[in-house]
Amino acid sequence: MNSLKLNYLKQTELFSNNLLNWYENNARILPWRKNTDPYTVWVSEIMLQQTQVKTVNFYFIRFMQAFPKIEDFANSSEDNYLKLWEGLGYYSRVRNMHKTAKIIVDQFAGKFPNNYDDLLKLPGIGPYTAAAIASICFNQALPAIDGNLMRIFSRLNCYPQDIKLNKTKQEAFQFFEKLIDVNKPGEFNQALMDLGSSICLAKTEPLCKTCPIQNFCLAYQDDVINLFPKRSSIKKRKIEKRTIFLIHHDHKILLGKRPHYGLLANLYEFPNIKGHLSQGQTIKIIRKTGFNPIRIKELEPSKHIFSHLEWQMIAYEIWTDEFSNSNVKNILEDNSRDFSGQDKKTKKASSFNLNERDDAYLTLNQDCFLSCLEDIKNKWSIPSAFNFYKEYLL
Ligand code: SF4
Repeated sequence: MNSLKLNYLKQTELFSNNLLNWYENNARILPWRKNTDPYTVWVSEIMLQQTQVKTVNFYFIRFMQAFPKIEDFANSSEDNYLKLWEGLGYYSRVRNMHKTAKIIVDQFAGKFPNNYDDLLKLPGIGPYTAAAIASICFNQALPAIDGNLMRIFSRLNCYPQDIKLNKTKQEAFQFFEKLIDVNKPGEFNQALMDLGSSICLAKTEPLCKTCPIQNFCLAYQDDVINLFPKRSSIKKRKIEKRTIFLIHHDHKILLGKRPHYGLLANLYEFPNIKGHLSQGQTIKIIRKTGFNPIRIKELEPSKHIFSHLEWQMIAYEIWTDEFSNSNVKNILEDNSRDFSGQDKKTKKASSFNLNERDDAYLTLNQDCFLSCLEDIKNKWSIPSAFNFYKEYLL
């Protein structure tokens, strides 16, 4: 072995030792770190994507109480698991989780595959999650490359390229693959995750003076931390104006279910329509649905930001009395629901559609129903885009 390689190996070992020693004394105490059960690690890792640890804590504990075993989750109804996910956003995550839970129960006798390649074949499990589970639960020496590791990689190396590029991710993977401790790969990955969230910070000045790997950091040595990571300019979000209707009838509120595809698929919502409508336009539209408005109140505007879209909302609270169209009464009675996810629908109402057919048309369909406030609070999964108006009602 030549002296250069020996020196490199020593450096690698030192990096890993410094990091793991720091982790031993500074690891965050988190509810999903009590064991290395793959179900626990998987649920927490999926929840943590795009969501802060302090938010996930509550959701994780509640989810595990509802579904202590993967079989419990696999057997749950969509309404049930969506309600537990309400407010976390990115609902395709939990839908894919449910598909994976079913596969694991039906095809793997309830046991997760114990290696990266097989984990990667499961719905919703990408390279990061597969590597996190494989390293934490099965000791496979693979780096789990997330935003924290990308930022640290960029600063350690003064990496000149955009960290969103796939090429950069591959280079980060190769870089950490050489450094990972083969005896403690799970701790190594979690140490870097913790370092990224508590020392090598994303939004505020990193705390380099207390960083256990500062001796390996080029950005720190060259005093250019603020220049890294490099990011190309972020695309502007599309703005969409919407009018929300809180329709009261018979001490209940009208809800609809969104289509099974697209944004916020299969979640429940207050009827809404594109554009900002005046009170007069709103009354006209509500009358067209068959409701008979007797009072209307304009509410405060609100906005919600999705990753690619911003909803700028105005809203009206509308009280109604006897229906002007008896069909509507029949439809709503037929649409009463229980929480097993089974709708008690007997009648197709193809001529009624809650979703707008054009920019100023709102009608009712077989997925609309009247709900009491208690059920809005506890049963139906209403996305956080509507939180402002939901909280107003409750
Ligand atoms: S020295 Fe500073 S910039 Fe470098 S890895 Fe540590 S915290 Fe991040």
